[in-house]
Amino acid sequence: MEVKTQIEALRKELNQHNYNYYVLDNPTISDFEFDQKLAELGKLEAAHPEFFDIDSPTQRVGGAVTKNFETVVHSHRMYSLDNSYSKEDLMEWEQRVQKMLGDVPIQYTCELKYDGASISITYENGVLKRAVTRGDGIQGDDVTSNIRTIKSVPIRLKGDYPELFDIRGEIVLPLAGFEKMNQELIEIGEAPYSNPRNTASGSLKLQDSAEVAKRPLECLLYYVIGSDLGIETQYESLDKARDWGFKVPTISKLAKNMEEVLEFISYWDEHRHTLPYETDGVVIKVNSIHYQEELGYTAKAPRWAIAYKFKAEQVETVLNSISYQVGRTGAITPVANLEPVQLAGTIVKRASLHNADQIAKLDIRVNDSVYVEKGGEIIPKIVGVNLEARPADSERTIYIKECPECGTKLKRNEGEAQHYCSNVYGCPPQIAGRVQHYISRKAMDIDGLGEETVMLLYKSGLIENYADLYELKKEDILPLDRMAEKSADNLLKGIEASKAIPFERVLYGLGIRYVGETVAKKLANHYKNIDALAEAPLMELIMVDEIGERIAQSVIDFFSSSINKEIISRLKNYGVQFVLEEKESTVVSNVLEGKTLVVSGVFSKMSRDEIKQAIEDHGGKNGSSITSKTSYVVAGDKMGPSKLEKANKLGVVILSEDDFLALIQ
Ligand code: AMP
Ligand code: ZN
Repeated sequence: MEVKTQIEALRKELNQHNYNYYVLDNPTISDFEFDQKLAELGKLEAAHPEFFDIDSPTQRVGGAVTKNFETVVHSHRMYSLDNSYSKEDLMEWEQRVQKMLGDVPIQYTCELKYDGASISITYENGVLKRAVTRGDGIQGDDVTSNIRTIKSVPIRLKGDYPELFDIRGEIVLPLAGFEKMNQELIEIGEAPYSNPRNTASGSLKLQDSAEVAKRPLECLLYYVIGSDLGIETQYESLDKARDWGFKVPTISKLAKNMEEVLEFISYWDEHRHTLPYETDGVVIKVNSIHYQEELGYTAKAPRWAIAYKFKAEQVETVLNSISYQVGRTGAITPVANLEPVQLAGTIVKRASLHNADQIAKLDIRVNDSVYVEKGGEIIPKIVGVNLEARPADSERTIYIKECPECGTKLKRNEGEAQHYCSNVYGCPPQIAGRVQHYISRKAMDIDGLGEETVMLLYKSGLIENYADLYELKKEDILPLDRMAEKSADNLLKGIEASKAIPFERVLYGLGIRYVGETVAKKLANHYKNIDALAEAPLMELIMVDEIGERIAQSVIDFFSSSINKEIISRLKNYGVQFVLEEKESTVVSNVLEGKTLVVSGVFSKMSRDEIKQAIEDHGGKNGSSITSKTSYVVAGDKMGPSKLEKANKLGVVILSEDDFLALIQ
């Protein structure tokens, strides 16, 4: 088969699989097969840059970097919605509508109101042209390169679509994905995001589209707009948009009257917590487009639609006490212990208080009657205090000054919200927490050893750090509570097996602050072994791709501790992996050997990640910033002027994308 035909066939097939998976939630091949086909396409495209196409499925990983998002005027204004909070509000709205339209039967579409960031996407001849945020409703930001990475957004449409139209909807972060992102942040000692909506809208404005591609965002669409679309009703437009390949929520209803609208509302008010996304209400729209045109708009919102807002699920209960938890990295989290109360289908006993500032801002005091709400997070939060119910003898909360676990005076770094206990090697939850992190699934994955057992081992004086695990003997652990012959054997087997875990996971398991899974991989690939990493000076570390000063300093601090040095030398003796296992090499040539390249800007034939991979495949190294040691800068469009100036000042050779391709050819 001709290469061009082959590339096109693969693109078409992969687009269909993306659609099956992300829009229909119904994949027909395994992830593995998908990845293989994608890799095959990637290879063909790399070998034939003349067939480059920004619309190829390989481009979904992003790579384009936008410094300033261009402002774009919406072709049709993006209105807001009027709100209603009760049955009475809705009845009034119905009367207004009925009065303007005369005595005709009116049908309504009911849809859920998704809580995310609104987006307007333009399609021309079935191809995604541009995606713009709502902005002030008149004009928004062009975030096309970020939206392209969201896999439920079709790049090419199917079926019988209009030549030119906009489609509007909401970019949302499903709750499960949000929790996962937060879990990863907590694991490396960073502060979690506060809610899915802000995280979704923040994602749209990220400069690096490759970062956006990594987030589990979805795009739900509900409104087609344009001229001469040949669409008669809102309900019909949802069906059509679905046929063209868009992810249009199937939860919607055509209601013949207000009574049926109210049924939809009361059903979803009760059941919305079973949905994978956050919703904050129902949107009711006059179904007939013709009637919509007759009704028109106020200065701010359509007269033909109204939002019904669900009541935030809030309860009032008494705050019995505040306790303070100490995490693995020493961060202190205040927790509210509540008088148990029923909220959104569960009994709530605890709520998060975030940090000292939050407590002071709301002036939360023990014995207060507080309002508790459940948002996107699993743990509910306190949103206010019922001051009228405050006891007369109430006292202002004084935040703890010392660690509740070890008594050390707490510290708080400038610009950080959290207090810390700095007694890294003497504070029990920090000691046990580090071992718990070391054995966790993504690190050493030690079978037969759970968090509770670690605590038990520590409390019995058997371990103080992860190196001690390798000294455990069966006769030491058998006397422990609930430890049978078999579980003891399993534990020891699990510890033995961890000696085969590859270096990058060991590095992650060491629990260096800010060194998460991805950073550990970068460092392991760059330095190849622990000794090289331990000796690396700050200036060199920050030159490693994607390593910033904060991470670099944390690595330096870790390896400068004599306690850590000793632990690592012991781990080495036990046979834990501290050298990178050379993978099946993807090396193609050594034309870039000994050279450090910095990639900057936006490229047209390859993505940024592909260029970085190509640099490594040809023996070169990726650097993060331009210094006198940089051999070349590979510059795409929109490279920052300060970078350009720096390169020129240091006399670093600048390569265009084509120069680079020629160099490695
Ligand atoms: P508000 O921001 O409160 O004025 O509400 C208006 C916003 O609700 C719109 O800009 C949309 O982004 C969002 N929205 C969520 N779901 C829907 C829906 N099904 N129909 C219309 N708008 C929706
Ligand atoms: Zn402490």
